Amino acid sequence: MTATSEISTQPKQWHNLPTSKVAQNLNTNPETGLTSDEVVKRQERYGANELKGKSGTNPIIRFLLQFNQPLLYILLIAGAIKALIGQWVNAGVIWGVTLINAIIGFIQESKAESAIAALASSVQTNATILRNSQKVQVPSTELVPGDVVLLTSGDKVPADLRLVKSRNLQVNESALTGESVAIEKNTAPVEVDAVLAERANMAYAGSFVTFGTGKGIVVAIGEATETGRISQLIEQGTSLKTPLTRKFDKFSRTLLYIILGIAAMTFAVGLAYGNSWAGMFEAAVAFAVSAIPEGLPAVVTVTLAIGVSRMARRHAIVRKLPAVETLGSATVICSDKTGTLTENQMTVQAIYAGGEQYTVTGTGYSPEGEILADEQPIDWQNFPVLAECLQAGLLCNDSHLEQKDGQWQVVGDPTEGALITAAHKVGLHRRDLDTQMPRLDVIPFESEFQYMATLHQSESSSQRTIYVKGSVEAILKRCQQMLDREGNKTSVDADTIHQEVDVMANQGLRVLALAKKSVSATQDTLDHRDIEQDLVFLGLQGMIDPPRTEAIKAVETCQRAGIQVKMITGDHAVTARAIAQRMGFNKNGEVLAFTGSQLAQMEQSELATAIEDGSVFARVAPEQKLRLVEALQSKGEIVAMTGDGVNDAPALKQADIGIAMGGAGTEVAKEASDMILTDDNFASIEAAVEEGRTVYRNLLKAIAFILPVNGGESMTILISVLFARELPILSLQVLWLNMVNSIAMTVPLAFEPKSQRVMQQPQRSPREPLLSKSLVKRIVAISIFNWILIFGVFEWIKQTTGSIDLGRTMAIQALVAGRLFYLLSISQLGMAIINQLRGIRQTFSDAFAIGIGIATTIFLQIIFSQWSLMNNLFSTAPLSLNQWFICLVVGLPMILVASLVNRFDPLD
Ligand code: ADP
Ligand code: MG
Repeated sequence: MTATSEISTQPKQWHNLPTSKVAQNLNTNPETGLTSDEVVKRQERYGANELKGKSGTNPIIRFLLQFNQPLLYILLIAGAIKALIGQWVNAGVIWGVTLINAIIGFIQESKAESAIAALASSVQTNATILRNSQKVQVPSTELVPGDVVLLTSGDKVPADLRLVKSRNLQVNESALTGESVAIEKNTAPVEVDAVLAERANMAYAGSFVTFGTGKGIVVAIGEATETGRISQLIEQGTSLKTPLTRKFDKFSRTLLYIILGIAAMTFAVGLAYGNSWAGMFEAAVAFAVSAIPEGLPAVVTVTLAIGVSRMARRHAIVRKLPAVETLGSATVICSDKTGTLTENQMTVQAIYAGGEQYTVTGTGYSPEGEILADEQPIDWQNFPVLAECLQAGLLCNDSHLEQKDGQWQVVGDPTEGALITAAHKVGLHRRDLDTQMPRLDVIPFESEFQYMATLHQSESSSQRTIYVKGSVEAILKRCQQMLDREGNKTSVDADTIHQEVDVMANQGLRVLALAKKSVSATQDTLDHRDIEQDLVFLGLQGMIDPPRTEAIKAVETCQRAGIQVKMITGDHAVTARAIAQRMGFNKNGEVLAFTGSQLAQMEQSELATAIEDGSVFARVAPEQKLRLVEALQSKGEIVAMTGDGVNDAPALKQADIGIAMGGAGTEVAKEASDMILTDDNFASIEAAVEEGRTVYRNLLKAIAFILPVNGGESMTILISVLFARELPILSLQVLWLNMVNSIAMTVPLAFEPKSQRVMQQPQRSPREPLLSKSLVKRIVAISIFNWILIFGVFEWIKQTTGSIDLGRTMAIQALVAGRLFYLLSISQLGMAIINQLRGIRQTFSDAFAIGIGIATTIFLQIIFSQWSLMNNLFSTAPLSLNQWFICLVVGLPMILVASLVNRFDPLD
């Protein structure tokens, strides 16, 4: 009989049992966790720890919703009326085109939705667990009942846990209970009939650890968790709505009323002239159809979806679609320093201990390198204070180093990795010290406190030792004494220490202070109160964290693009400023730095100016980030803010674009963010801004491209009716142009690559209307040209050949020819062709989509007039080669018109 079959998941209640009983029932050991073999067996039996995705709205309903657009109502009604008056072919074509349109819309929307949903869920959640007595990180989907999970603040609880250890553990369960205040947890059994919110010894999947640490045994996974049961009721659809699409909806609704009004007028005026009812109905429908930009919604969706996938390729995962748009108009980026602007590859370079300065050679986490005093190698055994300073860094440490493919890597915090490496350089190792001075308790590092402390047994049985490390500010004020050269205690010399700190910080080194305290042998737990005072200062270790090369370039690009970059950090002001200077933050003179405590003392107005002018904000507490964002927003800025800790969540939510770190970020931060960086790199924020701007520009291009055709067509119909002339274009033909032809030509615009100039201009103002003055002028100009084309060609051909069908067909082909030239004029393909003609070499690879669009268009237009079936359906006539040529030639002047408008209103 295997161990697996012995576990009884029978009692569905775990909160009323003592922890030993829980462990026994689940056949696990809270001290060692499960073995790998056992886990494999349980995984087979219980499956993966995940919730099955609940798809959003029913696909049939989503398909029907495609018809829920004002234009489609008009078309459906028009089709019905045509059917009533016996024009069955006409009715069939109208319905057919609407159906095709709905299918295309449906497919595109579903694709976009699932792409976004997949991206959001591709961000994996990890859990820290005990397995084979080892602390390891695994994807939370791999958890099984009986696994022992370790929790620290910022974690998302990965499964339902019965807690067996709790140290000030606080959990936010709002997702389950709606209670937004974090709950204090403990391990004592509670009444069997306690409700969910009262089971203080349980941590439920999907809630977040906001404070402290804890340990729990997995009692339920996947659908069996409390969240799993609830989420069957919750729909998890992705919304494709953004501020821009809402603006679009509003725009089309207004347009609709205007169009309906004019269509009714057309109808009335025509009748007054004595035209037939049927003729006027045709004209009114043609007008309505021609004036509405049918292709636009599809292009908007596709453009946004493409933006999302391009950003993902550049390491920025968009969680909320509106961020795609907002990014393009960001005016300020507030970025973390450590790990985002810098490499987070820490190496100790300077040590100050026992009144002496030391330098450390070597790079990275490899133990190669030496500690030098006065540039001479030393025997560290003769320097007891240096030795203890290194030892403190080694013991007061939660990380370790690993060699992978010959490369030394840190598992955990790079700051701590650097301390380990420094100790390795003199041959001090954790495993040797652990036997002499085993750890009894720990206060883990939290940004809020800026220190970490550990309690150790020491060689002498009468005493125990606390080691503390942290920021100089946090440590020094707790020290009354320090060690001199020989290791004797003297009173602390704060001035000298601060001078040493300044020397290190001015070189951009991150400085950690180390201290110790002896306590009685009876103490076996550690509390913040224990280290409030009477520490003995051991020394300083200064570590380099080089700026990321890509980030330096990205900062420069942002500045050129009119975006301010601000560094927000918990690090020392002098260090932060030195790094900022090195990264080119000082473009317009000095780098102004403020500390959190300076900001705290400022009045509101003073604060706003400081925040506007300063570019480095150091020793900023996470709560202050929220104030920073609000102050910037009150100045009208659009703020992107990065964050990784638990306490960053409010600031991330408040920012216009909250950015969480995929690697170093806590689950809480990720959940609160609009976007996640998979590589934690500042350069990826800049890339996302670039793509955001490109999305907006491509949308403008699509508008600038589609609306003039509607303009030209509706002018044609209106003027023809007013002057009582034959319609140069019929409603079905308009449908063809606006739906089939438009989609083939406009969707490729969504794929337009970014232009070289996209980051060389200041950002657009978010308050700028969609249709700016210059865009309206452009649309009117091109519309007039289109009208001349349609009206002119039709009248000319009608007079010379006497064939109305041929006149209409050639008018349409001429319009499409002009359209092709216009498309080239606003696309990168056109630019590439022009550059080629000028002798500037350029690759065409990026312009692939437009090329396909053009080829498809030409193919469709040939079918439209040359295929007899299409002639019957759309009342077109086949053209001779000569006539084709004529259409092409009359479309040519579009190049002139387009380059003229491009000069006044460049879309690049
Ligand atoms: P940032 O990530 O912006 O540099 P943190 O909030 O992580 O800021 O760190 C603030 C300060 O806390 C650091 O300048 C350092 O002095 C100290 N510190 C950072 N990491 C640790 C750690 N693991 N243990 C102790 N102190 C630390
Ligand atoms: Mg940090």
